[in-house]
Formats: sequence, C-alpha cells, structure tokens
Amino acid sequence: MIVEIVSTGTELLLGQITNTNAAYLAQKLNSLGFDVLFQSTVGDNRLRMGQVLRTALDRADIVVTTGGLGPTLGDITKEVTAELLGRKLFLHQPSQERIAAYFAKRNIPMVDSNIRQAMMPEGAIVLDNDRGTAPGVIVEAGKNTVIHLPGPPFEMEGMFEDGVAPYLHTRFGGQGIILSKVLRTIGLGESSLEDEIKDLILGQSNPTIALLARSGEIHVRLTAKADCAAEAEQRIAGIEKTIRERIGSYIFGVNDETIEQAVGQMLARRKLTLALAESCTGGLVSSRITDIPGSSEYLTGSVVCYSNDIKISAAGVPAETLAAHGAVSEQTAVAMANGIRSAFKTVVGIGVTGIAGPGGAVPGKPVGLVYIAIAGPAGTVGHEHTFTGSRTAVKHRTANAVLNHLRHYITAL
Ligand code: ATP
Repeated sequence: MIVEIVSTGTELLLGQITNTNAAYLAQKLNSLGFDVLFQSTVGDNRLRMGQVLRTALDRADIVVTTGGLGPTLGDITKEVTAELLGRKLFLHQPSQERIAAYFAKRNIPMVDSNIRQAMMPEGAIVLDNDRGTAPGVIVEAGKNTVIHLPGPPFEMEGMFEDGVAPYLHTRFGGQGIILSKVLRTIGLGESSLEDEIKDLILGQSNPTIALLARSGEIHVRLTAKADCAAEAEQRIAGIEKTIRERIGSYIFGVNDETIEQAVGQMLARRKLTLALAESCTGGLVSSRITDIPGSSEYLTGSVVCYSNDIKISAAGVPAETLAAHGAVSEQTAVAMANGIRSAFKTVVGIGVTGIAGPGGAVPGKPVGLVYIAIAGPAGTVGHEHTFTGSRTAVKHRTANAVLNHLRHYITAL
C-alpha cells in the first residue's frame, strides 16, 4: 500500500513551525508496514492544495493530510477534497453536538464558525477528536483512501492511535513489518565505505541499504520488510554478515550504541584501567567516557594539560621533548601517554594534543592537526590526523578518533 503524507499550512512553508507531524506519521505508518513513498507540503491555498491532492491521489493508495480542519476560512482541506472527489459537504450532527459540548464544558461561547468543523464530505467516516474540537475524516473513493487529521500534534497523534491505526488494520489487514538495524562505523569516509559495498548497494532490494553520515560516524542502515519479525531479522542477518566480512573492523556498534559505550565494555570486560592526558580536547574524551554508567571501573583519572608547564608537571612530558618538537607533535603525544600511564599507574595511557583552531596554526602545523598516542601492554603507538571544520567539530572528531584508536588497540591486545 503506497502512502503519501500531505502536510498543509502556510506556517510550514514559511519555516515558522517544524513539520513534526510528517515525521511522526512516517514512522508510525512505516512501522505498520505501509510504504510511505511521498511527502508533500502545501500552504492554505485552494488551487495549490487541489493540485497537490490530485497528484497524491494519482500516485498513492492512501493520502494522509494534517492541518486545515479548524474553524477559520483558511481551513479548507475537507472542502478541497470534497470538490476533487465530487462530494457535497453535509453537517454531521454528532460532531456538531460534540463540539458544542466541548465548548459548554469549558464555559466558552461557541461561535458559528465552529460549525465548519462539523461539515463533512458525503460518505465520510468521522474520527472523533478527544483532545480538541476538529474531528478527523476518512473518505473512501475507489482505489483511494483520504484521511484528514488535525494540525496540532497532540490532537493528531491521539487520533492516529485511537482511530486511524485500527481503521487501517481492519480495512487493509496486516502489512507485515519493517525492521531496521544500523551498523555504526568510524574511520572510513563515506565514499570509501560506499566503494567497499557498492555492489550490494546497487543490487539492494529487501533489505535496503542506506549510508548516513552522522557527526563523525558513517551509519549503514539495513531495512527489511517481512511478514514477521523473525523473517525480517533473518534477511538483515544475511546481508549484515556480508557487510561485516568487508568492513567489520570499522563497525564499533549497532543501533543506539555509542563508541564510548563500546570501548567502555571492552575495557571493563578485560579489566583494563585507563588514564588520559588531554590538551586540545579539553577533557572531552574523559567527559564522553564518564557519560557511561560504571565508567569508574576503568577510568582512573585524567589531566587537562593545556599549557606546557602542566604538560611537564602533571603529565610527565620532558621539557626537552617540548623544546625540540613543540606541544603539537607526535613525540609530545607519546610522552603524554607514557607519562600519564606511569603517573596514574594504569594499564593504558592516552595523550592527545593538537590545534583545534581557528587560530594557532604555524608553518607546517595547520589548524586541525592532531596527534593521539596510546601507551599500554602492546607498546606506545602514535597517530597523526588533520581534521577540518569548526573548533567544536575538530574537538568532536578528535574525541571520536581517540576512542576509535583505543578500540583498535584493545582489540589487538
Ligand atoms: P486548529 O483546529 O487548531 O485550527 P487545524 O487542523 O486547522 O487545527 P492548523 O491550523 O493547520 O490545524 O495548525 C494548527 C497548529 O498545529 C499550528 O499552528 C501548529 O502549531 C500545529 N501544526 C500544524 N501542522 C503541523 C505540522 N505538520 N507539524 C507540527 N505542528 C503542526
């Protein structure tokens, strides 16, 4: 069953409100197994709304609209549908009574225009509104079903749950289910990742494969449609196995799992302790690690060592190293990792130093240049990166890289 969601309201086109209704409906309808293939937004204009609805009726089986059911002259959705389908509007007595009761209960005088809300296209199935005044409407017309819901999200959501979802189930039966699984990767750019699995993407049908760039990570979303959850899981497992064979080392977690959670679990499972000496990240890596409950099991402590003096006194960096190579250098990062490891007596020590920008660049050392070192049972390893973006973005990407290098270091132990 193909569905189009039509959001109405000039406020949406002006960018004055965010279209949360469309996101809600898309999620709900997809999870019920309907194929939401189109979404449109149109203002409160009779001509253009007519055009949008005509197109939607042509290309979708079910058209769900939100907004424009109110009492004012700008609320025209039902009228436009009635005109398109050649239906007259009639006064739906039970709705009129409900609306009158709604006003009476609140002691608010009801104005005549509220009667507009009780006008329905002939043959309509009326959906009661338990959270407001405007009733919803379902109109069945040949191959099409048009469903009009109110604009206010609280009213629309209540009506969807109580009226629309049961109606869809009774009328169209179970549509199967749609299940998604997200494989989260760090360390491979979007185009390189795409290259690795291009043939799978080109040949996709069920499950579908989508690549999404998300703050320093690339997510591979696998979505399967099936009659039951077990079948959908099985379909996903098949393609996941192939993808893991190709890019498994870059995948750190699935669905909502963060890199700090994944790394935390690895440290806890292997009973490893950790200390950090952070310069350009200003404690961000430690902060993210401590976002995870139970992180005190593995994080012993950290030092934010911004100045050279503190790098020397608190992180044990030899003054000669700083003098010879500068604060932003692999040698300093290595000394920070070794120094903090021995000062805090941990299994693993990390040093991170770099130029977050926007100032601070010197010849040969651009903004975004970062050195990360990890010291531990497998020796001390240094990594160089050059990140782009704002100061915040460089800090965030650096923190991601630290956590990812740590993940690889622990895996290799
Ligand atoms: P009312 O009976 O309140 O007039 P209505 O069905 O006519 O409802 P609109 O007038 O189009 O709906 O919108 C009423 C309010 O609902 C908007 O001002 C906005 O706050 C909210 N709203 C409308 N459409 C959306 C949307 N797509 N996403 C989020 N909020 C919305």
